[in-house]
Parts: sequence; C-alpha cells; structure tokens
Amino acid sequence: MKIVINYHLTEACNYKCFYCFAKWQNKNQKEVLHSKEKVHQLMFEISLLPTLLNAKYGTSFSGVRLNLVGGETFLYKKQVLNIIEEARKYDFELSAITNGSCLDQDLIRVIATQFSMIGFSVDSINDESNIKIGRSFKNIPIKKDEILNSINEIRSISPNIDIKINSVISQINKDENLTNFIKDASPSKWKIFKMLPIITSQNVIDDFDFDNFLKRHNNLQDIISSENNDEMTHSYLMIDPIGRFFQNSPISSGYEYSSEILTVGASNALEEIAFNVNKFFNRSKLISSLNI
Ligand code: SF4
Repeated sequence: MKIVINYHLTEACNYKCFYCFAKWQNKNQKEVLHSKEKVHQLMFEISLLPTLLNAKYGTSFSGVRLNLVGGETFLYKKQVLNIIEEARKYDFELSAITNGSCLDQDLIRVIATQFSMIGFSVDSINDESNIKIGRSFKNIPIKKDEILNSINEIRSISPNIDIKINSVISQINKDENLTNFIKDASPSKWKIFKMLPIITSQNVIDDFDFDNFLKRHNNLQDIISSENNDEMTHSYLMIDPIGRFFQNSPISSGYEYSSEILTVGASNALEEIAFNVNKFFNRSKLISSLNI
C-alpha cells in the first residue's frame, strides 16, 4: 500500500468559498512551489516517508501517492508542471483535487496520462448557491457542464483513470439533490464531507441535516463515502504550502504545525505532529470494501 500525502501546494485560488480550509499561517514566507530548488528538496524528503513510517509504526508502505491539493491546484500551471516532473523522478503515484476552472488542453493531457486519480470539488450545481458559497469568479459561478466536459475529455484519453467528486455540505447546499450530476459524471467515488468549522462556524449543519443529505442520495450509496469530523482528525498526512506537516487541531479551530520539513528534515518534522495510522488504515479499508 502507498502512503497518501496531501500536498497543499498553494493557498491561492480564483474562488473564495466561505468555508475554505486553505488558510495557513504563512509567516510571510514564499510558498515552496515557486522555487524549483525547494520543490526538488521537498520531493526528496517526501520520498523518505514510507521508510520513516514503516520504522515508526511497523507498517509496510511501498511508496507514495502524492495528492496535489490547494488552494486551486492548477492555478500556477508552470509551477505545478514542475512539481509533477520532480515527483515522477521518485516514481510517486500522482493524483489531485481541483475546482476544475483552470484546466486547459495541456493540463487535461498531463492529468490523463500521468495521474491515477483526479477529483473535482463540486458542492452545488445551482448558480445562486455557488455564488453564495463563493464558487464564482467575478460573479460568474462554476458551471457543471465545464466540469463534465473536462471529465469526458480526460476519460477519452484515459478511460480507466479514477475520477472522484468531493462535496462539502453546509446550510447553503444541504437541501440540494445532486443525483443527476453525479450520474452524468459517473465517478468511482463521491466523497461527501460535512463542513468542518475549522475556519468559520458560519453555515455549519448538524448531524441530522447531514444524514438527510446522505439519505436523499441513498440510491448512490455504492459510490458514496462520507466522513464526519472525528474520522477526519489526525487521519491524513498533510503538507502546507511552505512545507510543514499540519493537522486539524482536535481542541480548537485552526491547525497545528510541525517545523518546516526543508529546515529540520521529514523525520524530525514527522515527530512533531499527530498522525493516527489506524484511522488512515480504516479509511483505506473502507475504500477497498467499496471496491473503489
Ligand atoms: S475552490 Fe477550494 S481552494 Fe478555492 S476557495 Fe473554494 S474551497 Fe478554497
């Protein structure tokens, strides 16, 4: 099994979702992705993680799946292409999450030919809701057809690529029915998150509302994977744009950080954060039991 590292390569995004988790204390430092040298070093440090984790937890990780996330992952095209090139030198499996708004023909081809998975974040297919959520640029909301076109183009090049959809459920979209969109997109997995009050508690929903959203989409249960707040805490290995491990704080809003990996090395930085390897495996088991 490969360890999944979520590398949040930039905080920048063309959208402004009110709940956006992509806000880190950056100490006025430049994001790693803008320096070729730092990207090179960071990829090396990440390549050490399977061995470090296996020694620490007795696991048998065989490699890395580097999941590129943002901000908007593909906002800085040249820099992302450089990260992909460096990651390939270490044979990392690649995947990414995107809001789908920056994909041109080059990026579609790179994703289709070099990535094992691409996830699109889509909370709503309703223009008004997307504007309220902040999924719009200059007041023009993301259109579901743009996303579907990108998915179709990627699939036409790589029919077996794993396509996923991520949706965050809040007061704004809790009553929506996304069944037809999901059927058209035909993802292998639809990951539904209850909005986490990390940055704001505005528009949060309770378990009742979240369960109702899930029940409304019961006919898609074979591909749905939902995560509540507890399951999400300490169960990912995540790196922020300036190259620190970070985790959701279990006791307050915001994040807890390690030192910078490029300064202290991945081994020392790993010691400074909480990572629950059992939660990581529980998620992986859930994924394999869904056969996705
Ligand atoms: S699209 Fe994603 S990264 Fe951009 S503002 Fe929304 S949640 Fe944040």
